[in-house]
Amino acid sequence: MSYILIDRSNYFHNLNIISKQIKGKDKLFVVLKDNAYGHGIVQMAKLSKEFGIKQSAVQTIKEAMSIKNYFPYILVFNDLPQNKMNGIGFAINYIKYIEKIPKNSIVELKIDTGMHRNGIKIKEIADALRLIKNKNLILKGVFTHFKSADELTSEYFWQKENFKEVKKEVKRVCNNLKIPLPSFHSHNSAAIFRNKNFNEAFARSGISIYGYHCLSYPLPNPSLKPVLSLWAEKINTSKFKKGARIGYGGVFETPQNMTVSTYDIGYGDGFFRNDGLTPIKTANGKNILGRISMNSMSINGDDKEVCLFDDASYLAKHFHTIIYEITTRLSPNIKRIIV
Ligand SMILES: *Cc1c(COP(=O)(O)O)cnc(C)c1O
Repeated sequence: MSYILIDRSNYFHNLNIISKQIKGKDKLFVVLKDNAYGHGIVQMAKLSKEFGIKQSAVQTIKEAMSIKNYFPYILVFNDLPQNKMNGIGFAINYIKYIEKIPKNSIVELKIDTGMHRNGIKIKEIADALRLIKNKNLILKGVFTHFKSADELTSEYFWQKENFKEVKKEVKRVCNNLKIPLPSFHSHNSAAIFRNKNFNEAFARSGISIYGYHCLSYPLPNPSLKPVLSLWAEKINTSKFKKGARIGYGGVFETPQNMTVSTYDIGYGDGFFRNDGLTPIKTANGKNILGRISMNSMSINGDDKEVCLFDDASYLAKHFHTIIYEITTRLSPNIKRIIV
């Protein structure tokens, strides 16, 4: 069976670097949405707890429930509860969410400072806070998200300025309404590494905890280490004469007599389907031959196991996509093993 190895020491290495950058591991939200970017949500929650992380962020209530025992606090980015839930906070992405959230729930107000994806507008803050107070919701945080912290443009600074205005406005309204001041957070992985003077209450890191920085040159380049490697096991080995055409469409033809093995992973398991025209290589440099099938692929040689990748940036480049997509697609059915 194919499997995923999760490297504990690499994970702790990354958490150490990030914690240093934001001045304390108690400030870090580990972002574990979408099965922890494909790494395995329960495995990553367990390791995060072992490291001493106190809070995580996920997309749904279902995800939050699966890791409830590992964190005192979990922020849910986009899902609304039927009943009040202890230890779980809910992002208010739109004013209309406020009426749907059960009384006494913990909430965090998401503000749109320029990404225009979700979040309430700056001019809606006063209304939102009044509604939150009237409903006896507990306002734990106010946060925003950067649209291009990974790019060498001024947009990060522009949104940061907008968030300063947000802080002022929230403080003003909270004083008027006599509600306790919430904590503020805005930084994702890329923003964390652009800010030498981090001074917010929390930061939310996804891609960097998994070992990748996504900053465009010449932004700083932290020495993070990829946490995940994907492995497949050999199903069978055959010897072919020169000229055998392998797999769908027969796009790969053996240039000489060749030993070829079939391995138990394919695009149905979340590995990208390669068309075989431009070959991709395994972690130790062997070509994957021809087209990738739904649950198998062929590789020259007869190794018992192959590591398909231990650094997703190579595949992201090959498939013209982002690292996030390479790891997030990996099927939750693949076994995750911590080593
Ligand atoms: C996914 C997400 C993050 C994490 O972003 P990275 O770039 O992976 O660090 C942080 N905040 C919000 C709101 C998100 O949706």
